[in-house]
This record gives sequence, C-alpha cells and structure tokens, in this order.
Amino acid sequence: MRKIKLGRTGLYATEVSFGALPIQRISRNDARELLRFAYERGVNFFDTANFYTDSEEKIGYALSDVRHDIIIATKSATDSVEFMQKNLEQSLRMMKTDYIDIFQLHNPSTLPNDDILNFLYKAQRDGKIRFIGFTNHKIELANRALDMNVFDTMQFPFSLLAAQCDIDLVNRCKKEDVGFIAMKAMSGGLITDPEATFAYISRFDNVVPIFGVQKKSELSEFLGYAENPPVFDEAMQKRVDKERSELSGDFCRGCGYCQPCPVGIDIWQCARISLMIGRAPSAPWVSDKWRAEMDKIKNCKDCGLCKSRCPYGLDTPALLKRELSRYDKLYEELKGNK
Ligand code: SF4
Ligand code: SF4
Repeated sequence: MRKIKLGRTGLYATEVSFGALPIQRISRNDARELLRFAYERGVNFFDTANFYTDSEEKIGYALSDVRHDIIIATKSATDSVEFMQKNLEQSLRMMKTDYIDIFQLHNPSTLPNDDILNFLYKAQRDGKIRFIGFTNHKIELANRALDMNVFDTMQFPFSLLAAQCDIDLVNRCKKEDVGFIAMKAMSGGLITDPEATFAYISRFDNVVPIFGVQKKSELSEFLGYAENPPVFDEAMQKRVDKERSELSGDFCRGCGYCQPCPVGIDIWQCARISLMIGRAPSAPWVSDKWRAEMDKIKNCKDCGLCKSRCPYGLDTPALLKRELSRYDKLYEELKGNK
C-alpha cells in the first residue's frame, strides 16, 4: 500500500490509516480481530485518544506484540500539566508500550502555554514521546498553531467537501513540512460515496486519512481502493460534484467551528439532522434524546455567535430553525412508521 510522509516526523503512514474512535463501540475481542485484520492487510498507522474510553486498551491488547512495526498516535484533551502527565502514563500503560510516536493536543480551545510545551519537550527528551501534534476543528486556531512552529503534525477535518480554507491549510502544512492527518473523511456519515472520497483525498499527496471503522467490511472497502486506486477522471469529478451539490449551499458540514453555544445547543448535529436522517439509518435520530436536543433550538437567543464563527458563511440560527421545522415533520412521520 502507498505510504505518505507525515511531514518532518519522517514517518511514513499508509494511505489507509486507522481511526480508533469507533472501536469503543465493539467488544474487546471484535476490536482485536478488526485491528489485527487491519495490521495484516498492511495498515501501519493507528490514531486514538485518551478520551476514547477503552480504545487505547484495545490497541494494546491487539497490537502490542507488533508495536515496533506500527505508528501510534494518541491525544490528551487537558490543559493541565498534571493531568497531561497522567494521560500520557495511562496511554503508555494501556497500549503496553514505552513510547508514543505522535502525542497530540486534543482539540484545545486555545494554544498551549509554556508549561504544557515544556512538559511535552521533557517527555520527548525522556523518550516517551517522539513527535508532538495538534488537532482541531477550527481553521483559525489550526493556523495559529502552525504559526507557533512547534507541532510536527496537524490533524484536521478533510473530505471531498473541503472549502478553500481547508485546502489552504493542507498546502500550508506541506510547505512547512508538517504532517497532515485527515479526520472526518466521510463527514461524520453524511458522505455516501467512499470511492469518490478516497479518490478525492488521494489527490493531495501529503494527506494521511484516518478512516474511522468498526467493521471489517468498511475497512476492506477502503483497502480495496488502495489496492486498485480509482482514477480521478471526469466521471469521478461528477461524483464529487454530486455529493457536493446534494450537500450544497446552506448545508452544515458538521465541522463544529461554531461551538460552543451559550444555551447548549448541539449545533453541529442539530443543524444537519434532516440530512443525517435522509442519508444514513434514521432510527438513532428519531429518539427521545434527539427530540430533546432539537427542542433546545427553541431557546436560541439569536446572539449570532455561531453565525460569526461559521467558516462556510451559514446563517446558522436560521438553519437551526429550518431544521427544527423539518425535524418536527420527520419525527412524527417516522415515529408513526415504527
Ligand atoms: S445564535 Fe442561537 S444557536 Fe447560535 S450561538 Fe447564539 S444561542 Fe446558540
Ligand atoms: S454551522 Fe457552520 S460552523 Fe457550525 S458545524 Fe455547521 S458548518 Fe460548521
């Protein structure tokens, strides 16, 4: 399988890499089988997080005997040195290893202070961390993190729905020799054409996608594209355009840049719920939980914060209200069909 250089780390990750968030949802033995399957089919890069409950422990269970053949990235979501130290020790213990290849700051809301950086440098000197990465959903913060020139990798959402600012970030990483790790390649389930996704992302030779999978069939599909790469021709461009147009205009990409909302609306899910119902299995969205989440939209104060943060220029409060009205109808219809 083709390997892609992760910038200045000098590590080469397979073009199908493994996002280990979904293995939280499957049993320990099923996770082991899936991770071994990935490894045996050539996948060499596994990305997890301290925050993903037992995902790290499952990686240790499945892959500790081949530790030196793989690249492991994990993340810590704290801004306290004390807790980051605990996170790091736990990650090492859970994954039965004495070093993490890429230790990432997990979607922080601000840039790290000197205490955090000094902790990371010391962990590097002690051999516990090889490289330092930054992950985020906010384009402005991602760019400011690059300005610091201390991160070896950047993890950011990237899919065939990419806006120009996302492509600019990819190109900036290439220019500055920072590895680019693409999360949300399927836009959280909204994109329904994995082949077009693979073909689109492959056009960026510095992008390493981590596909979040919980079944062998899902992984096999991407591995099949790596073995027989789809050609990005006119027909493929049309497929990309079709996804983009169906998910076009004022649709919410689920990037989360607009969060947090002062009244606790889960904007990145609520602003696209009718699309999720139309393009993915609807049952999980027609539940008491999502009924209650959607009803929070009635508390919107029209403060405009979300709108001012949306990089796609969406009128987010209006979008939420439109989605609430669509959801009201769909909820009644789908409940009635249950
Ligand atoms: S406009 Fe409404 S949805 Fe947006 S941040 Fe303000 S309260 Fe939340
Ligand atoms: S409303 Fe805009 S910023 Fe918020 S999740 Fe959707 S696309 Fe992203």
